Amino acid sequence: MTEFPEAAVNEPTVKESTLLGATEIRALAASLNATPTKKLGQNFVIDPNTVRRIVTQAHVSASDVVVEIGPGLGSLTLALLPNVAKVLAVEIDPVLAGALPSTIALHAPNLKDNLTVINADAMRITELPVAPTHLVANLPYNVSVPVVLHFLETFPSLTEILVMVQAEVADRMAAGPGSKIYGVPSVKMAWYGEVTKAGSVGRNVFWPAPNVDSGLVRLVRKERDFDPELRELTFTIVDAAFGQRRKTLRTALGSALGSPQIVEGILRDAGVDPGLRGEQLSLQDFVAIAQQAKKVI
Ligand code: SAM
Repeated sequence: MTEFPEAAVNEPTVKESTLLGATEIRALAASLNATPTKKLGQNFVIDPNTVRRIVTQAHVSASDVVVEIGPGLGSLTLALLPNVAKVLAVEIDPVLAGALPSTIALHAPNLKDNLTVINADAMRITELPVAPTHLVANLPYNVSVPVVLHFLETFPSLTEILVMVQAEVADRMAAGPGSKIYGVPSVKMAWYGEVTKAGSVGRNVFWPAPNVDSGLVRLVRKERDFDPELRELTFTIVDAAFGQRRKTLRTALGSALGSPQIVEGILRDAGVDPGLRGEQLSLQDFVAIAQQAKKVI
């Protein structure tokens, strides 16, 4: 009988990571001399169940490339890595960005090569080393809406996103016409796809605990039959309509489209009653207004 030395046995690579709890997060921050700042929305997840839940809700698979905005100390990154092909982590804080590779090497040694850390402001990212299929993030609350819109516009390869945001923002992102919370984020998100809420998250899973609850939001990209060139004008009209949300469209759209006569003509041609308010219009109505406006202004 031939005996094989242990080293010659071809062991499968173990795609595992150990997740970070409260003790590890605090110790890691202390070792980096890092104090979480409000300005950068630094509330770190200290609960392994929460990051597992986010990954389950993210609908990712082994071939996916995930862009994570704001990996922080790595809680969510460690939960993502065993489940996807690659994580592109964009972190603005140079200390946290610098420490992330060693955290991953320690807690997920076999997966460290699947991580690329980019030390940058996510709002300024215009290209990535690999086209991302998914965006998954516990977002810094102060920039959550613009950053999601920026990535959806910049990376058409993104088919699905799952983000944790302030509960109130989650509600706004997923709201439909006719409700009080329907507004600019609702319409602009709807331009890119189907938006749904994917759960609520309490305050105690974070360190430091924020003074608001959080929510998970999913967007599944949908091919629209609108002309993509109409996006900018549609968004300008949306901003104007909700900028004065108590006013009727006849008045509110003046700043974006011109005199009351011009506005009235555009709205009638679009089949939209000028006496309505922005909160009563669907995305399709806003696009119809932009279509008509393009012919006139
Ligand atoms: N993902 C980590 C977690 O779940 O524990 C941290 C989430 S924390 C809510 C937000 C993170 O986003 C912080 O690490 C912060 O430094 C980072 N951040 C804030 N603004 C950013 C920006 N404009 N671009 C990239 N990262 C940003």
